[in-house]
Amino acid sequence: MRKFTLTTALMMGTAMSTPVLAEGHLQIVEEPLELTIQMNHARYPVYDESWPVEQQASAWTGISLVDQTVGANMRTDENSGKTEALNLMLAGGNLPDIVGSSRLKDFVNQYGPEGAFVPLNDLIAEHAPNMQAYFDSRPEIASAISAADGNMYYIPYLPDGKYGRAYFIRYDWLDAVGMDVPNDVEELEAVLRAFKTQDPNGNGEADEIPFFARQWPELLRLVTLWDGRSSGSDTYHDFHVADGVVTHGYIGEGYREGIANIARWYEEGLIDAEVFTRGSSAREYLLSEDLGGMTHDWFASTSGYNRLSDSIDGFSFRAMVPPASISGARIEEHRRTPIKPDGWAISYTNEYPVETIKYFDFWFTEEGRRLANFGVEGEQYTMVDGAPKFTDEVLNSDSPVNAQLWAVGSQLQSRGYFQDYEYEKQWSNEVALEGIALYDEGDYLIDQFLGVAFTADEQAVYDRNWPSVRDYMLERQQQWILGNGDVNADWDDYMATLNDMGLQEVLEVMNSAYERQYN
Ligand code: CA
Repeated sequence: MRKFTLTTALMMGTAMSTPVLAEGHLQIVEEPLELTIQMNHARYPVYDESWPVEQQASAWTGISLVDQTVGANMRTDENSGKTEALNLMLAGGNLPDIVGSSRLKDFVNQYGPEGAFVPLNDLIAEHAPNMQAYFDSRPEIASAISAADGNMYYIPYLPDGKYGRAYFIRYDWLDAVGMDVPNDVEELEAVLRAFKTQDPNGNGEADEIPFFARQWPELLRLVTLWDGRSSGSDTYHDFHVADGVVTHGYIGEGYREGIANIARWYEEGLIDAEVFTRGSSAREYLLSEDLGGMTHDWFASTSGYNRLSDSIDGFSFRAMVPPASISGARIEEHRRTPIKPDGWAISYTNEYPVETIKYFDFWFTEEGRRLANFGVEGEQYTMVDGAPKFTDEVLNSDSPVNAQLWAVGSQLQSRGYFQDYEYEKQWSNEVALEGIALYDEGDYLIDQFLGVAFTADEQAVYDRNWPSVRDYMLERQQQWILGNGDVNADWDDYMATLNDMGLQEVLEVMNSAYERQYN
């Protein structure tokens, strides 16, 4: 822990930032205080003390964060890199005061109860009125981030906004084949067949690919059209809750029915033959080559492809409401998660837990939340009619708005803060906003499974059985879709194999953890 004067802190700042000095009500400490931080995230591998947002937070609160990140280069792999850096930090024994990281939740929920991180519940209740008010209004969030011992060990990044992915279709192709936006699964099949057989791109060849997906699990969303489920959260292949019980989509009747029909569509050429292998460039390639007809993908980025109307005559790729399923249900299975496993925590070596929780709480004040979302007033935004509005310079830059914000220390997902969707709305294109409005008219979203925290015994059962069960589910699923085997004929054997592999034990520990955490 180093102490130094505020003047020094300001002199260290970059010229681009002119922090507004201490408004009394945000000030936390009389004497400037430095706290060390480890920060791991693919987009910002270390905490940058010169970020204008850090400078402003320091000027307001009196607390400055000093980078003490180890393992910053361990971020090549999205799945393993972050945890490796955290393990390295823990193994080194020299813990910083604050640990901020993507994928922090499981790590702190394992090592917090063992003493490596400070339990936050009492600190929040006594010293963090803004966070307490948030958790009081969203008790399911507090439940979701709690460890098996009932304590919270990290403050998460809390995304805002409801909508994520949606069904998009070529409206100009619908015109070309003389059909309306499909209302239900039967009409959808007829439309996809027309796309395949009636040459909507007009080049005289049957080269159209009716349904494609940039991420192949998006193909599985189609099982919802037969009342199946593919995931209960924004993580693919996740569990979901049905009638208060945790279960898995890939053992459901609707799933079986859905896979049987997806396999039929695949055989008929209504689905991209390369859906499992084409990869992340599928959307870019198939749209810009005027080949793809329909997908399920993010509102904002997918809407952006309407710029192709410059080169493809009449190009119109817009959202359509979810077609009604065989039982008449319209479901959009994907939505933004209200909570991420990313955020920050207080390590046991921190000598200033009260000051630190007050600092965490600062980011939930009106000023702190605005700073976390929009950057610094007068630089990234100005106040217009009492609300922050990005400057024209920010909105018209060649660099994406979110990238500009990361560069000044705003919108950091390894900081615990509550996002404000308004930040994104200001730079969303009109087609995306029109699509979101369309989805807002219906009640298509469904509740999310927010995850559980296992005891050590439950974790052992899960770790022993789930990876092989899941692998087997995915292996069979792909075989059936590709026409290798028949899902209906194979179903009883499939279920028996899953049970032999320990599926029921996994469901038991999921449900015991779920019951403890939410009921
Ligand atoms: Ca064609």
